[in-house]
Amino acid sequence: MTAITIDGVARSFGEVRAVDGVSLLIRDGEFFTLLGPSGCGKTTLLRMVAGFCQLDRGRILFGERRVDDVAPHRRNTGMVFQNYAVFPNLDVGGNVAYGLKARGLAAGEIATKVERALTLVRLAGFARRWPHQLSGGQLQRVAIARAVVIEPDVLLLDEPLSNLDAKLRAEMRGEIRALQRTLGITVIYVTHDQEEALAMSDRIAVMRAGRIEQVAAPRAIYEQPASAFVASFVGATNLLRGAVVRRDGAVADILVGATTIRARLAAHPSLDRVALSLRPEALRLLGAGETPPPGWRVLSGKLDEVEYLGAVTRFVVRLADGTRLAAMALAPPDAASDVALAYDPARVVVLGEDA
Ligand code: ATP
Repeated sequence: MTAITIDGVARSFGEVRAVDGVSLLIRDGEFFTLLGPSGCGKTTLLRMVAGFCQLDRGRILFGERRVDDVAPHRRNTGMVFQNYAVFPNLDVGGNVAYGLKARGLAAGEIATKVERALTLVRLAGFARRWPHQLSGGQLQRVAIARAVVIEPDVLLLDEPLSNLDAKLRAEMRGEIRALQRTLGITVIYVTHDQEEALAMSDRIAVMRAGRIEQVAAPRAIYEQPASAFVASFVGATNLLRGAVVRRDGAVADILVGATTIRARLAAHPSLDRVALSLRPEALRLLGAGETPPPGWRVLSGKLDEVEYLGAVTRFVVRLADGTRLAAMALAPPDAASDVALAYDPARVVVLGEDA
């Protein structure tokens, strides 16, 4: 097990600053995710940790040991890629044994370790199968077995589930998480899928244009995003901009268009113009005659769009000033076009306007 220090790391390709001064401390045994849109520098950063990409500046340490000038095969990392990268000319056993043979282990020891790794990824008995006889999910399991069989200090996964269908993806993310817990290994996981990141990680670093926007546990990333970018990239949200028109202790009224939204301002006491994030599920549709809980506020408007999704219904409400709010409910709203939405001001997240 190994803690990883990434200290002031940068890398440019021509004019493109792929990684632009990133510092992170990843704990021993942590499942740590780099999350961000395409091109934000996730893969470049992961490749720097693996040793496949030179640093322009900065340092990378595994524990106390500086590794950024160490050859990839001497860092003791296992890596799994999106496209599996399983050797087609070797059977499953041969694929998993590959790294052990390269290390010169005895045949008996190799056989034991391969067997154990295949059992770990639920492919016991598959050693003599060929890659072309396997499904995408099985191929990815082979790739994972091949990465963990060498008992790496660090496991690096680059969008390993992207090529799988939705159901298998959900299943595999549980398996990878369970495997990581069993092995107690430090994992860096790259994805652009926010649901995957929330479901799997101990902590998430949200990246944007080569920089780290926020590092926190999944719940804090979702419920207390540090910027408008994080709020809108991780999950759906209503992002509103407005001016503070009244303060009362930690509570403020913010004018958005012609609508007043109440929020807690504690984190930004001095701002006059702010951005607000209000999650769709934080808006509660009030039934006829229903009163909101104490301290909640009510917004009235007209139902604009309804999207029935089975487990939940998404809908959009247009307020009198034209502001549109996406909301969510377990049961579809009834046909009435005039609706009231209640919200708890404590769940309105206030962000700096330029965030
Ligand atoms: P994706 O999710 O699409 O893989 P990413 O977040 O992993 O994106 P990177 O692959 O790290 O992003 O790329 C970051 C930026 O660096 C991009 O603008 C990319 O075009 C550029 N880049 C990456 N590798 C190279 C390279 N070898 N040569 C030139 N530019 C590169």
